[in-house]
Amino acid sequence: MSRTLITGSKVFAAFILFAALATAGKAGLLDKVGGLDAALDVAKAATVSDADLQASTKQMMDQMDKNNRVAPASDKYGKRLADLTKGLANEDGLKLNFKVYLVKDINAFATPDGSIRFLAGLMDMMTDDELRFIIGHEVAHVKLGHSLKATRTAYLASAAAKAANANSKLSVQQLTELAEKFVNAQFSQSQETDADNYGLAFMKRHKYNQAAAESSLRKLAALDGTADGRSASMLSSHPGSKQRADKIHELLASK
Ligand SMILES: [Zn+2]
Repeated sequence: MSRTLITGSKVFAAFILFAALATAGKAGLLDKVGGLDAALDVAKAATVSDADLQASTKQMMDQMDKNNRVAPASDKYGKRLADLTKGLANEDGLKLNFKVYLVKDINAFATPDGSIRFLAGLMDMMTDDELRFIIGHEVAHVKLGHSLKATRTAYLASAAAKAANANSKLSVQQLTELAEKFVNAQFSQSQETDADNYGLAFMKRHKYNQAAAESSLRKLAALDGTADGRSASMLSSHPGSKQRADKIHELLASK
């Protein structure tokens, strides 16, 4: 990861998210963010509005997209995700955009501006209906404000770490620690459960195969504790994918 990312005049909290991705995976996404500067200030971080956080995240996502291999519409991944997300740009009153990054890591994430990104490795291991559940799950993190809350938390943590540092810059080690914290505790158990429940309701609303909700989590559960499981940790860590799959199983069985 690059030091230049975290110095300068302005920072976008969600870079922690990408630091997290870079830490978790092998793709080195953070190295490609480029051009984002940081002026973390605790006072500012505490008072930044939701709208400003969303706007800065959007700006950062534009930069991220520019600096990553986004699957073009003609690519099999790009075409597949476009088909799967057709008609969802304004799902549940949101303003969403979907893209695939052509990297092998097994992950997906949503930022508070409504950007939802899939990494190709995740698409490789899931059926269309399983991906639909994950789409619903990620939409939930936007809709229910989880992404915004996590971004704000990361922003404050970064500002505090910077303030505590004599030269007012985050060291690479601090950034790595923050990134790991973010990966491991991005969302609470109840947020993940809420997102799974929303994902299931999303499947029902669109008349997709609801059983795929459970099977997608079983696939992630099979990765828990493996190297790939670590790269999938944002999807699978809290609570464990097995427990999440069991919960969905109960919900499906009780109908
Ligand atoms: Zn989640």
